[in-house]
Amino acid sequence: MEPGAHAISPNEVISRLESNEKCGLTDEEARNRILIYGKNLISRKKNRHPFVIFLDQFKDPIIYLLGGAMLLAFSFGEWLEGVAVLVVIFITTFIGFLMEYQALRSVETLQKMAQTRANVLRSKDLKTIQASYLVPGDVVHLAAGDVVPADCRILVSTNLAVKEAILTGESDQVEKISDKLPENTLLADQKNMVFNGTIVSRGRGVVIVVVTGDQTCIGQISNLTQEAEKERAPLENKLAKLSHNLILLTLFLSILIAFAGYLQGKDLILMIKTAIALAVAAIPEGLPIVATIALARGMVRLSRKQVIIKKLEAVQTLGETGLICTDKTGTLTENKMVVQKIIGEDQVWDSKKISGILSLKDECILNRALQISILCNDSEFKESSQKADAIENALLEFSENLGYNWQQERMEHKRVGEIPFDADIKRMATLHEDSRGYLIAAKGALESLLTSCNKVLTKNGISTLENKDKWYSIADRTASEGLRVLALAFKEANSIPIPENYFNDLIFIGLVGFLDPPRKDVKEAIQIYRQAGIKVVMITGDHPETAKKIGEEIGLFESEKAASTVILGKEITDFSKIRPEDQQKILDARVFARMVPKQKLDLVEFYQKHGNIVGMLGDGVNDAPALKKADIGIAMGIRGSEAAKEVADVILMDDKFTSTELAIRQGRNIFENIRKFVVFLLSCNLAEITAVAIASIAHLPLPLLPLQILFLNLVTDIFPALALGMGKGDKSVMNLPPRDPEEPIMTRELWRSTIIYSLSVTTGVLGITLYSYYVGTYSEDEVNNMAFYTLVLGQLLNIFNLPKRNESFFSNEVTKNGWVWGAIFLSILIVIGAYVIPILRKVLHLVPLVPEQFLFIGLFSVSTLLISQIVKRLGGTV
Ligand code: ATP
Repeated sequence: MEPGAHAISPNEVISRLESNEKCGLTDEEARNRILIYGKNLISRKKNRHPFVIFLDQFKDPIIYLLGGAMLLAFSFGEWLEGVAVLVVIFITTFIGFLMEYQALRSVETLQKMAQTRANVLRSKDLKTIQASYLVPGDVVHLAAGDVVPADCRILVSTNLAVKEAILTGESDQVEKISDKLPENTLLADQKNMVFNGTIVSRGRGVVIVVVTGDQTCIGQISNLTQEAEKERAPLENKLAKLSHNLILLTLFLSILIAFAGYLQGKDLILMIKTAIALAVAAIPEGLPIVATIALARGMVRLSRKQVIIKKLEAVQTLGETGLICTDKTGTLTENKMVVQKIIGEDQVWDSKKISGILSLKDECILNRALQISILCNDSEFKESSQKADAIENALLEFSENLGYNWQQERMEHKRVGEIPFDADIKRMATLHEDSRGYLIAAKGALESLLTSCNKVLTKNGISTLENKDKWYSIADRTASEGLRVLALAFKEANSIPIPENYFNDLIFIGLVGFLDPPRKDVKEAIQIYRQAGIKVVMITGDHPETAKKIGEEIGLFESEKAASTVILGKEITDFSKIRPEDQQKILDARVFARMVPKQKLDLVEFYQKHGNIVGMLGDGVNDAPALKKADIGIAMGIRGSEAAKEVADVILMDDKFTSTELAIRQGRNIFENIRKFVVFLLSCNLAEITAVAIASIAHLPLPLLPLQILFLNLVTDIFPALALGMGKGDKSVMNLPPRDPEEPIMTRELWRSTIIYSLSVTTGVLGITLYSYYVGTYSEDEVNNMAFYTLVLGQLLNIFNLPKRNESFFSNEVTKNGWVWGAIFLSILIVIGAYVIPILRKVLHLVPLVPEQFLFIGLFSVSTLLISQIVKRLGGTV
């Protein structure tokens, strides 16, 4: 057996996989290999086959009931009715299938857009591709924040460290190397390998893909527990529960009606069929699927606005979000950093005024500051690379503007060691070798760097650093102008220092102030959030004064008190031991500065414990735990690391804070739409039941025959309900506080409204039955038909009862919803079709009516709307 990839050298792995470290695979070879090895995907969640989705539609109590009705019809020799019910079964299942298939397809398409990406070397070019297209032999470049896209052997490791918790459960990072290891090394100790799904926490690496997809370690684990899951949002579950309870109630009522009718001397078979049809009609089976469609449509709509929702239930949670934690740089600010000033001992250079300086060599502090900011810098200054650190890009741009040749500087001072930037300690250092010896270049937050300095560079040379406090106040002052502040330091050495000594006895150079203006549209979004009762909290690693100034500029503080409470990371060491008075201070604060990544997670937990539904925006690899913990994790699409995108529920493809507002608005609207169609469906169903119940008890002709009920169920109920689910929603949703997640879909007021709407329709239907039976003395068929049409129209008009009481009757989100008008038009067209097409006419027992009868139908149907509206305007409904 061949030794494992970990037990051979990098060169041997490359030749075994027939690849090339410098050029990678050719595009053609990659295409060939994907045919052999398949896509780099784990078949963890097998998509349901469309046929299975279709068959699932039959696993439904409503279909059992219809099946029973069909058998009953056939066994009594009523072929036409039997076939009609069969057609209804097919139409119901087919509509259900189409809707579910469509919804699932759009969810899948969006999930594909959120797939992990990888930087791979193909035909000598470094390209970013979807990780699913990787094949064995591909050379991949990894950097901090990336998700390892397959199982790979490390070729080059530059301080590469990886978090492998997903495989080993161990939360500490593992240092990675490229040397070969003994054959029998355990998986957890294979430090020269990186595994699919793990997260690069530090450094960089060049690796070669060894196995992909199901062959990877994580693929094999997943296969063991493989299960085709059907994802259902909690909302859909809630609705499913609601409809199950209603099924029981409906069955009970249907049996009661049948029994009462029989006792009144009506035909037993007709009453049994009526009971079944009523049960079918009244069971709100459509609810979960209409909710799925509404949620899926919300996802699609948001994707057009650059917001990718990864899970259906996130749409719902978005509507409940009451607090948003956001970072500052790049989210609230432009992240287009520009060096504004450089401050050295007794000297300040304004970037706008120094472009004319020709002899940089004379400016010893400025010269050194430029040199250190170029060397202690990972940027390659590619404009296209938006992910590159904006601070580092700004430093290179600044030096270039001054005519400084940074490429040459880097060539003359080869980098031979480094301690990468660490967001916890907020500093970094690099070691360089030149003709004279060694140079250490360091940069970071002032507090982190100044403690390591004991000398300072002045225009007359190096002297002892005596007054550190002076530098703290200069930094405070600079930060309070809204500038981001970075400190620079250096030292020279004759022999190579060990990394532990990089930060000892440094010489302080000075500060760089960067301008990073707030995004223009953020202020307005924060204003909208305030109206919507949503708190926005800034959690940043930056200086408190910079954070406060930016907070002021974007209108983050609603009061003087909030503005004066900027909490520093070091003030809260242990979240579990916070005193009650400090708890309130934290709840009131809007800015947390100099926070370390772990504290973001603690803060999210803290807010959740205090009853908040928390949305968290983040981009870095260190943000991943907090993104996961938050009720809604929101990652940045451009700046965001693959790790952040992987765990997030929502990805903002344009990195815009304002997009969160769109998403929350959409989430709220969808919930309101779902409520509307639940009220609509329930009130229509209830009207059918009560009308038939009262008629059969009161010895009146039945206002609805079994097949008429089924027809209604397919036509006047489902199309308008769907149309309501499509509604764009009302602007005023953002004027209300966030919804309590515990609040049921059907509140007490909504139940009351549902009952009132249904009673209004029932009144109209029974009214016309009484009138046509006693006054008009029409035949039983005519009485039934007039009641049937009144019910159809009454139900369609019922749609206009759904807008809230405080909205105008003529201009509201229902009347402005084109889908609603389409659904009404379609429903009327189908009813006219039923009247004129002989076969339908026969099935539905429709007889010709005269204009006078239609006039009464019109009058009684409009009266149903009038009654509801009068009760509504008197305050009886929502
Ligand atoms: P946020 O994006 O959450 O608002 P931030 O980006 O300001 O926070 P960090 O990136 O952790 O937070 O930066 C914190 C501090 O670390 C900065 O104020 C700066 O002083 C320092 N710093 C940031 N980037 C670098 C870097 N590339 N090298 C050295 N120091 C850095």
